[in-house]
Amino acid sequence: MEAVVQQGPPTAPEKEESPASQEKVRQKKDTRGWLKTLLSFASRCRGRMVVAELFSILSVFSGLVPYYGAYRIIDAVATAPSNSAAPWDAVLFWTAVSAAAYVVKQLLFAASTINAHVSAYTILASLRDGIAKRLASASLGTAQSKSIGALKNVVVDRIEQIEIPLAHMIPELSANVLLAVAIAVWVITIDWRLALACLATLPIGLLIMAFGSAGYYKMYGGYLARQDHVNSVVVEYVEGIRVVKAFNQTTSSYRKYSDAVRDFMDFTIKWMRTSRPSTASAMAILPTTLFGVVPVGVLLYLEGSLTPGEFGLVCMLALAIVTPVMYLGMSFNDMNLISYAITDAQEFLNLPVLVQPEGEAKVEGSAIHLDNVRFSYEEGAEVIHGISLDIPSGSFVALVGPSGSGKSTLARLVARHWDVDSGSVSIGGADVRDMPLAQLSSLMSYVSQSDYLLDGTLRDNVLLGKPNATDEEVRAAAEAASCEEFVSRLPKGWDTPAGEAGHALSGGERQRICIARAILKDAPVIVFDEATAFADPENEARIQKSVAALSQGKTLLVIAHRLSTIVHADVIYVVDGGQVVAQGTHAQLLENCTLYRDMWQAHIGAASWAAGSGDVPESAFAEGGDAR
Ligand code: ADP
Repeated sequence: MEAVVQQGPPTAPEKEESPASQEKVRQKKDTRGWLKTLLSFASRCRGRMVVAELFSILSVFSGLVPYYGAYRIIDAVATAPSNSAAPWDAVLFWTAVSAAAYVVKQLLFAASTINAHVSAYTILASLRDGIAKRLASASLGTAQSKSIGALKNVVVDRIEQIEIPLAHMIPELSANVLLAVAIAVWVITIDWRLALACLATLPIGLLIMAFGSAGYYKMYGGYLARQDHVNSVVVEYVEGIRVVKAFNQTTSSYRKYSDAVRDFMDFTIKWMRTSRPSTASAMAILPTTLFGVVPVGVLLYLEGSLTPGEFGLVCMLALAIVTPVMYLGMSFNDMNLISYAITDAQEFLNLPVLVQPEGEAKVEGSAIHLDNVRFSYEEGAEVIHGISLDIPSGSFVALVGPSGSGKSTLARLVARHWDVDSGSVSIGGADVRDMPLAQLSSLMSYVSQSDYLLDGTLRDNVLLGKPNATDEEVRAAAEAASCEEFVSRLPKGWDTPAGEAGHALSGGERQRICIARAILKDAPVIVFDEATAFADPENEARIQKSVAALSQGKTLLVIAHRLSTIVHADVIYVVDGGQVVAQGTHAQLLENCTLYRDMWQAHIGAASWAAGSGDVPESAFAEGGDAR
C-alpha cells in the first residue's frame, strides 16, 4: 500500500529455530518444479541463452578439430614411404587448420560466456524483481510475517550463489553432453573394442562419484540450514545490539553468535571430510581412460586393424572425453545448488496475492463500519471474535483494552494489512476488499506504533505523504506536527538522511515526522496506533498536539495505550480478549465498566507516579475541550 503513511505493525516475533529443526523443514521442502520456475524467469533473455548455447556447441566442436589435425599429421608422417621426403605440406596445412580452429574455439567460447553471464545476471535480477513485486502485491501483514533474516538470505545470498553455476550451466551443459556423445561415437566408428576399452574405468569413477554425491546432497540441506541460522543470529545480534548492551547481555548474546558460527564451521568441515574422499577418488579415477585404451590399442595395432594415426587419435580422444564427463558429474552439484536456491525463492514468489478489483469502489463519506469481524493470524487461533464497530464520518473513536486484546489487529484490519476471516470492514459504505489498494490508501493515513522512516532525507519522508507538495506545504505540515524545533537542531536539518537522523531522534520525534507525513497527505480517515514508548510527558503532549492538528475534521480512530489521551473521544470501545465488552463516553464507562474503571485507576496511579504528584496529566486533545 504505497501511500499508506506509516509502516504497519511490527513483525511477528521470530521463532527461535535451531539448525536441526530448520534442516527438517528444508528436507520437507518440495524441490520439484524449480526448473520450470527458473525458466519462467529466463524469458527476458531467451534469445541470448540460445546464442550462448549455439556458440558453446560450435566452440566445443571447433575444439575437436585440432585432434583431427593431429591425427592427419601422424597419419601422413606414419604412412609416408620411407625413402620420400617428410610430408611437410600436410603437416603445415593441418597445423594451420588446427591453430585456426583453436583460435575460433576460444573466440566462440568467449562470446558464449559473455552471453551466458548476461543471461545469468538477467535471471538473477528477474528473480529478485519477482520477489520484490510479490511482496508488494501480497498483503502487508503477509509480507511482514517474513523475517528480515530469511528475506536477506534468499534475496541476497541464495540467489547470488547461483550466478556462477547458472552462467556456466546455460551453455556448457548441453555442449558437454554433445561433446561426450560425439567423442564416444567417433571412437566407436574407429573401433568399437577401443570404445569399450576407453569406457572401462569411467563407470567405476562415475559410480564412486554418484555414491559420494548422495552423501554430499544429504548433508547439503544441513549446511544451508546452518548458514541460515548464522545469518539470522547475525541479524538479530546487530539489530538488537542496543538491548543487548542495555541489559548487559553481551556475553550470552555473543556466545549465541559464536556458537552458531562454530557449529557452522564444524558441520562444514564434517561435510567436506565425509564427501571429499569419494569426490577426490572419482576425480582420480575418471581421467584414467588410457589404462584401457593403450593396451587394447597396441594389440589392435599389432594385429594390423589399427593405423598409427588412428591409435594416436583414439589416445587423444580418450583424454578429451574426460573433461565433459567430469563436467557432467560436477553439474549435478550445481543443479542441486540451483534447485535449493529456487525452492527457497519460491517461498516468496508464491506468497498469496492480495486480490484487488480493477475499478474504484463508490465511497460516500468516511464512516468506518466493522460487521461481525473474525480474524486469526494462524489457523485455529482466532484473535478477533466477531467484533462490530460503528465509527461515523468525522467522529473521534478510541479503542482501549489490555495489552494483547486485539486493538492493533483491528486497526490493521481497517487498513487491510490482512483480510478478515469472516464479516466485513467498510469505509464510506464500501467494503475495503472492493477497493484497489491505491484507493484505500488515498482514503486513509495509518500512523502506527513503529516509528519507521524510509531511506532518504527527512524531507523525502514527509513528502511521501504528497510527493508534489510545495516547500510551504511541507513547512506547514512540519510545524503542525511540532517537528521544526528538533529538526532545526540537526546540522543538516530537513536534508538529514533518515538513517542518520534515526540515531539522533527519539521515538516520539520519529513518530512526529510520520505525523507530518500524514498531515501532508490529508486523507479523510486517520488511524492512529498510539505508541506506548513515550514515557516523557512533554513528548507525549507534543504528539497529542500533532495528532489534534492531523485529525481536524477527519474520522479519527485512535488505538489508545494511555487513557488520558482519549477522554474526549465521542465513543470509546473497550476491547478484551478479541471482543468488545463495553462502549460509551469516558464518563459513561467510568460508571458502567469495571475493566475501564480499573484501567483508568491504574493509569492515574502510573501517571501521578511518573509526574511525582497526584495530578492526572492533561491531554493535549483536551486543550480545547475536544479532540479537534
Ligand atoms: P493489542 O494491540 O491490544 O495489544 P494485538 O492486536 O497486537 O493486541 O494482538 C492481539 C493478539 O494477536 C495477541 O494475542 C498477539 O499475540 C497476537 N498477534 C499480534 N500480532 C501478531 C502477528 N503478527 N502474528 C501472530 N499473532 C499476532
